[in-house]
Amino acid sequence: MTRDFDIVIIGGGILGSSISYFLGFLNKTKKIAVIEQAHSVAFHTSGRNTGKVHAPYLYNPEKKKMFAKAAFHGYEMWEEYSKIKNIPFKKDGVIEVSLDERGTKVLEKYLKWGKQNGLQDNDIKLMDKNELKKIEPEIKCESALYVYRDGSTDYSRLTHEVMQDSKDNGVNFLLDSKVSSIKKIDGKWKITLNNKQEIFAEFVINAAGGEAIDIAHKIGVAEKFTDVHFRGEYWRAPKEYNNLTKTSVYSVPEYTDYPFLDPHWIIRVDGNCEIGPNAVPVFSPYGYNKKENIKEFIPKMLEMINSGAIKAIFDKQFQELAINEIQSSMSKSKMINRVKRFLPKIDPEKIREKGTAGIRSSVIDDKGQFVPDAILEGDSMSFHILNYNSPGATGALPFSAYVVNYLSKKGMIENESSDMQCGFWKFSEIVEKLAL
Ligand SMILES: Cc1cc2nc3c(=O)[nH]c(=O)nc-3n(C[C@H](O)[C@H](O)[C@H](O)COP(=O)(O)OP(=O)(O)OC[C@H]3O[C@@H](n4cnc5c(N)ncnc54)[C@H](O)[C@@H]3O)c2cc1C
Repeated sequence: MTRDFDIVIIGGGILGSSISYFLGFLNKTKKIAVIEQAHSVAFHTSGRNTGKVHAPYLYNPEKKKMFAKAAFHGYEMWEEYSKIKNIPFKKDGVIEVSLDERGTKVLEKYLKWGKQNGLQDNDIKLMDKNELKKIEPEIKCESALYVYRDGSTDYSRLTHEVMQDSKDNGVNFLLDSKVSSIKKIDGKWKITLNNKQEIFAEFVINAAGGEAIDIAHKIGVAEKFTDVHFRGEYWRAPKEYNNLTKTSVYSVPEYTDYPFLDPHWIIRVDGNCEIGPNAVPVFSPYGYNKKENIKEFIPKMLEMINSGAIKAIFDKQFQELAINEIQSSMSKSKMINRVKRFLPKIDPEKIREKGTAGIRSSVIDDKGQFVPDAILEGDSMSFHILNYNSPGATGALPFSAYVVNYLSKKGMIENESSDMQCGFWKFSEIVEKLAL
């Protein structure tokens, strides 16, 4: 196997794979590799999410500018890509409900944000409860935001297709390969995989999801940031609930300042229904079970004590939220009742099967504040994408084109071609749309 690469991307999630897609088209002779510790791409968050192709109405156009723009254009790109690759994509919309007057004010704000982020009048509509009742008789609410330009897909399958396209352009995917150490030696990166095999790289792109901060810290980048991991759990609803609503239903979150939502009523692209996700604090980006969490408890606590995270943890509102989320992990009915508030027909007794949990890693700065947008940091030999959270899967393609263009404009990498037809899209046209 080649041991020397021009560019190494750490992380074979939807982000790392999408970056490799554009690099592959623009660099036919460069040696590029994606390193993934799992046995397949999209094994972690990218294959364990809600599968929604989000319209950008939940994102403050000032604070979440990058995510909002990428989501807006990602929608049409995934729709096109899914069609050609024969992957299910449903334009099935989403309804966001408010249960009281405070929530209605939030919906009015979301309507404004949605339009500022590019949605048109026929993409999004604020309704009172009577108007919604005619469409969705089972939903109980005060008012609702009906978002027509929202979809569902399967991000795991999409990532596998993106990997295949990248491979066709000569990108190597090294699976089952954990980056165990990374060091700069004689103007190159020496990267050790699985504590034994060594490879070398001129330039490294860190798209390692829940480990991105740890990798950045290993090479002395982004030291003022730390992260906190939250496990999002799901419950699968029985088939008898499949026609309860026509559309997925979200509710205005109780704590709007935190980077996660309350559990929703989800209709997956295959028609099956689920309830989730909650956001239970855990100690590892892979803390799906007790064993993994116990192993990481002490190292994570030590890391947090020495960072801004400690301020966040002692915040009263955060503590309230964390207790609420932990309770809804320990008690099935506590979790399901959060959705029963707006779908009273649901009976927790009938819901018995757990879904697949996914973990988000939210970045906190040195002042103890959750950072709303993605963080891009780099030096002459590396580039790091941190805090790449929801709606990260929706925006992965345009965001990746933006990253590749940014690196080239800053002189960090030199693309062999400055513009190209990249599959279905012309590179310059995507980048133009995403100009921030
Ligand atoms: C519960 C939940 C629901 C969500 N729902 C949605 C949704 O409906 N729509 C949407 O758009 N977004 C959603 N998101 C967000 C979206 O899933 C993420 O933004 C996106 O998947 C992040 O992709 P990624 O490639 O950055 O991370 P990941 O998918 O986590 O990929 C990072 C990869 O890096 C690898 N890695 C890490 N460290 C190393 C190492 N040392 N060596 C080798 N490999 C390494 C990991 O194994 C992993 O595969 C959701 C997220 C969660 C948690």
